Amino acid sequence: MTFDDQEYLKRYSFIERILISSEEIQKRIRQMGNEISKDYKDSTPIFICILKGAYPFLADLTRCVSVEHEVDFMAVSSYDGGTQSTGVVKIEKDLKENITNRDIILVEDIIDTGLTIAHLTELLQTRNPRSIRIAALLDKKPARVNDVPLHYIGFEIPAEFVIGFGLDYDEKYRNLPFIGIMKG
Ligand code: 5GP
Repeated sequence: MTFDDQEYLKRYSFIERILISSEEIQKRIRQMGNEISKDYKDSTPIFICILKGAYPFLADLTRCVSVEHEVDFMAVSSYDGGTQSTGVVKIEKDLKENITNRDIILVEDIIDTGLTIAHLTELLQTRNPRSIRIAALLDKKPARVNDVPLHYIGFEIPAEFVIGFGLDYDEKYRNLPFIGIMKG
């Protein structure tokens, strides 16, 4: 038996509402995959999944990409360890692959202030890739501090705390197939 969005809602009373349904997410990811496949038809890009939150997005996105590609994983954490992003990131897990002269697509769950992705992009630039683009499932634009260019965006969302599809609350609920808003 598989759970659908409504069943999860019934089970978890702390979810106020579904912001983006699983159906909408899958439809948009298919469109993003098609767009990326066209843009990289003459290349073999490396998708870099930023752990932990981007893992479901990476898995579904790459299954919609028809060009040959590689995947690699990176984990970063904020230096201050608090809830507010400083953008100064510490590498917890580094890439396995050499990215020199490669086309890189950074895969993120959500861009909030933009500080983390801006710092990460700067750091990876020092390894001399041919190009770096960013694919983010969610863009929380009202919270943006650093206006880093995003190339592939799934959905723009309001400045609310969301969970599901990789995004956690206290390390849980990453498995929800939709993006939900928690009760305040
Ligand atoms: P920023 O863009 O502010 O540097 O940070 C982005 C990171 O903050 C994301 O990768 C994610 O881990 C976390 N984050 C930002 N907004 C949310 C949210 O609404 N829900 C959850 N669960 N994490 C968030």
